[in-house]
Amino acid sequence: MFENLSERLSGVFDRLTKQGALSEADVETALREVRVALLEADVSLPVVRDFVKAVSKKAAGQAVTKSITPGQQVIKIVHDELIKTLAGETDPGVLKIDNPPAPILMVGLQGSGKTTSTAKLARRLKEREGKRVLMASLDTNRPAAMEQLAILGTQIGVDTLPIVKGEDPVAIAKRAKTQASLGGYDVYILDTAGRLHIDQELIAQAAAVRDVVSPRETLLVVDGLTGQDAVNVATEFDDKIGVSGVILTRMDGDGRGGAALSMRAITGKPIRFIGQGEKTDALEVFDANRIAGRILGMGDIVALVEKAQATFEAEQAERMVKRFQKGLFNMNDLRSQLEQMLKMGGMEGLMSMMPGMGKMSKQMNDAGLDDRMLRRQIAIIGSMTKKERANPDLLQASRKRRIAAGAGVDVAELNKLLKQHRQMADMMKKLGKMGKGGMLKQAMA
Ligand code: GDP
Repeated sequence: MFENLSERLSGVFDRLTKQGALSEADVETALREVRVALLEADVSLPVVRDFVKAVSKKAAGQAVTKSITPGQQVIKIVHDELIKTLAGETDPGVLKIDNPPAPILMVGLQGSGKTTSTAKLARRLKEREGKRVLMASLDTNRPAAMEQLAILGTQIGVDTLPIVKGEDPVAIAKRAKTQASLGGYDVYILDTAGRLHIDQELIAQAAAVRDVVSPRETLLVVDGLTGQDAVNVATEFDDKIGVSGVILTRMDGDGRGGAALSMRAITGKPIRFIGQGEKTDALEVFDANRIAGRILGMGDIVALVEKAQATFEAEQAERMVKRFQKGLFNMNDLRSQLEQMLKMGGMEGLMSMMPGMGKMSKQMNDAGLDDRMLRRQIAIIGSMTKKERANPDLLQASRKRRIAAGAGVDVAELNKLLKQHRQMADMMKKLGKMGKGGMLKQAMA
């Protein structure tokens, strides 16, 4: 699925990843192509605009020099932004179905996959959550639809409300409600009638049913292949009936993916599940992460970026080891160390990786070297000038006062940091002398 969009974006990013350094103009060019790709994928224009704007703002905010592979950085930003746009606040797979019997209303156009999704959901609730489920078809216009649900019910071993000829949808809904209570069901799912297009009668009927049962969830079923139309349908249903979530069907086909993105961005409604085929087990909880990856078509995009970051860090570590071997360890090195420590779970985390450093770790812990401390120390170094960082010996009384004031600490704390720096410089020198491939390199690899 999302073939068109994936291919398009892969092309863009292929070009990006092949470049060593990326200027702002390159980022802009790339985003222009992202924009075209999204439009071609049938993502609606306002969504594309917002999306690209958000990405470009983030990209512009990041120092290009900071990353060794700016192309991958752009990928990561696009990816993160896709997830942000796609994801809802809560776990999409968790339905509000406490207080049995909980009514779930299924709405949508005819042919969207509503009846199939009703059965899929019933099966999921039964098999995964051990719920007793009752299904009822309200599609009095199409007896075939009612029978279809009954057949599906038999297949998956879920009860359906017996069909009574001539009954209207509201009456069926009431009967389902009573039956669900009397029969001790946890959930009852109402499969409302669909039409080819939204019309007044369809909406009025769904609203009447809603008022009778007060559904805990009203799930709108939309065909993921219909792109922009799907969004219009969703907006309309939500305005008129109120929708708590969306089930996007036919996501197994070569859909364009645009629907998922604009649906979420425009309606603000969370996508809860996606239909992945005709069978009753082909329903998956919507996963923003995965869909974002699929939209980008970069398979393991996150892994790629992580790998890039790991490479970057390894190179940085290598550079540091070389400096230490030469006996160099200034405030910039200390700051990198402190930042690294924060990332690796504090001082203890780092020391535990160095053979024979357990005792030192304990000492540092006793000295109160926790994360807050690390952050304060990083701030102190941040208050130093470039020259001072390169050569801490410059730090005499007046400079110290200025730096301490700048970081909002007292001079004693700065002195403690300087002492620690000297100790670490000595330690690094010793470790460095153990040669390449020695303890330090192992510890930092
Ligand atoms: P309804 O009119 O909205 O109730 O639609 P149906 O549930 O009858 O589905 C219409 C057609 O779409 C049927 O042939 C289903 O098998 C098919 N269908 C439903 N969901 C999916 C899906 O997720 N993937 C695929 N490939 N087909 C689906």
